[in-house]
Amino acid sequence: MSKTLITGGCGFVGSNLIRQIVEQGRAERIVVLDNETMGSPRDLPDAGLDYHKGDICDLDAVSRAVAGCDTIIHLAANTRVIESIEDPTLNFEVNVRGTFNVLLAARDAGVRRVVMASTGGAILGDVEPPVHEGMVPQPAAPYGASKLAAEGYGSAFAASYGMQVTALRFSNVYGPRSYRKGSAVAHFFKQVLDGNPITVYGDGSQVRDFVFVADLCRGILQAIDANVSGAFQLGSGQPTSINELLVEMKRVVGANRWSEVHFADWRAGEVRQTYCDITKARQAFDFDPATPLEKGLEATWQWFLQQTASTPT
Ligand code: UDP
Repeated sequence: MSKTLITGGCGFVGSNLIRQIVEQGRAERIVVLDNETMGSPRDLPDAGLDYHKGDICDLDAVSRAVAGCDTIIHLAANTRVIESIEDPTLNFEVNVRGTFNVLLAARDAGVRRVVMASTGGAILGDVEPPVHEGMVPQPAAPYGASKLAAEGYGSAFAASYGMQVTALRFSNVYGPRSYRKGSAVAHFFKQVLDGNPITVYGDGSQVRDFVFVADLCRGILQAIDANVSGAFQLGSGQPTSINELLVEMKRVVGANRWSEVHFADWRAGEVRQTYCDITKARQAFDFDPATPLEKGLEATWQWFLQQTASTPT
């Protein structure tokens, strides 16, 4: 039976992906490797998973988890742009050395393919959107550089050791189970729940591509089933400014519960405008991020409300 290792399986994307694998009744056995910094095995469905607590920076831990697997979905990463500017070494260790360990362990265990989470905007830097796979990378922050290096090693391992490597360049992913994320949608909803003001860095005109996590996870599985290799942008393909996002979020939350919005200085190293062209993924594996922003935000808010309802005070 096919056996898939998911690194970072307890995290936001991982826990949604594992749920989707279970719901789809897919045949593969799932092994999870997670260091529990961004999630816990309690967040995973009770579905006979083979669970390993461990870090991708520990090659022995990766090698133990990968034994007998034919596929790796490598999601474990340090994903914060601003934190990578503050601590580029940690970002390097996790994203570059960690990915290198995953690839080494994959090679030595005879893994057939590695699908790795990458990023669109941060790899390319400040370029004219929509971003696509044909653009020359020029990262503006250590996070983008680390993902570019990881993609570089992926490409080299594919060519040198005959394994299939696919880099899926996620845009800004949002959705249920993002409680531990510091990204815009999750952070803004948490501020509302806590009755705190929302701070917008800059004037809110910055543009991002918000993709709903269930659409993204379907895309990951479609890429695996279609056996594709190389890099693919996975996003909604739609530009949304932070101001537009806030209008939608306020509608979902209701004006009576909505937080005050404050505007602060722009943060150094941030890309001002990015959204992606998803033509390549559409053509290669029918990627179809069909969830409209308002529906995805509604589902996310409902999930956040349930969490507070079930948390003992
Ligand atoms: N953002 C903001 N206030 C916050 C969190 C995020 O204004 O409390 C902005 C941030 O400056 C960026 C956008 O929202 O322009 C998306 O931020 P996120 O961290 O989600 O993703 P990334 O910058 O990595 O695309």
